[in-house]
Amino acid sequence: MTTGFVCHERYFWHDTGHAGIFIPAMGHIQPAEHAESPESKRRIRNLMEVTGLIDKVMQIAPRPATPEEVLRHHTSDYVDRIKAMSDDRGGDAGMTTPFGAGSYEIALLSAGGVIAAAEAVVDGTVDNAYALVRPPGHHAEADIGKGFCLLANAVLGIKHVQATRGVGRVAVVDYDVHHGNGTEAAFYDDPNVLTISVHQDNCFPPDSGAITDTGVGAGEGYNINVPLPPGAGREAYAAVMARVVAPALRAFRPDLIVVPSGFDAGGFDPLGRMMLSSESYRSFARTLKALAQELCGGRLLFTHEGGYCAVHVPFCAHAVIEELCGVETPIEDPFLGIVENLGGHQLYPHQEAVIDQAAELVARLS
Ligand code: ZN
Repeated sequence: MTTGFVCHERYFWHDTGHAGIFIPAMGHIQPAEHAESPESKRRIRNLMEVTGLIDKVMQIAPRPATPEEVLRHHTSDYVDRIKAMSDDRGGDAGMTTPFGAGSYEIALLSAGGVIAAAEAVVDGTVDNAYALVRPPGHHAEADIGKGFCLLANAVLGIKHVQATRGVGRVAVVDYDVHHGNGTEAAFYDDPNVLTISVHQDNCFPPDSGAITDTGVGAGEGYNINVPLPPGAGREAYAAVMARVVAPALRAFRPDLIVVPSGFDAGGFDPLGRMMLSSESYRSFARTLKALAQELCGGRLLFTHEGGYCAVHVPFCAHAVIEELCGVETPIEDPFLGIVENLGGHQLYPHQEAVIDQAAELVARLS
């Protein structure tokens, strides 16, 4: 099993400045490092080096996305606007998306990293891939940046392999704790891309990700939101995978599965209120890998999104990448027992009610 891995030091040079978590540091907020800092991502790569996992993956060099590739989805007005700000001293791409001088080029390299990984998976150069890119992408829309995301990395990767590799049907399974609004919007009227987002109910963006948002026109039924109540743990997420994600993928029969991979549903995350451990993330990867092998020749691409507890995230990502490779290193996650022993991991009725509703949407898909 060959797993492709994309990373680049320049991803960590994208500067989000100082903030109080993500609220601009002003008034009574003492400046601190912005929540979307390089640290949680850089430490994933560092941990892989320490455990030797980095030697088990095939490194794929990212390249900048070309203007033509970016304009497959984004408007030229938006691209011109963020480039002009980036050429000057930076600014904000829209809603809570601050960036510094030169971030436009880094965003191109981030999108291009996902494009390169998607090419490698579809061409069979690798069996599957993890693109550890930054800035993230799943909140960015065609004409506005949102939630720390400048360019819609996963969308651009999907559109690229559809345009150049004849890929038809793509399924997106987004388990970041925040709604994958950008991916949803990109394919909302498109029956060839099934978008599934499992997120915390009404967390970010505000008023986004309702279970009643199911697509429009020809795309009706091909968008499934699972807005879990805050506090969901191991069993609620396992039920979503078993009762929503797996049957939806089997009904849809994709040619490629893309996973916007955020670790902010982790038990220590400052921007989410869920309770996942590295073992839950490992189980997601195991399930999605098995589904990809069953349905689409194993073609599976993970693109890195959120996750803001810099010490916990690396263990969650490491577990996912181990699973993709089929390699187990002797690493021990020191946080595993703490998160798994929290109260409330069972499936509660108010969580199950949401999962039941989502399962009905899947039945319509079949
Ligand atoms: Zn997130």
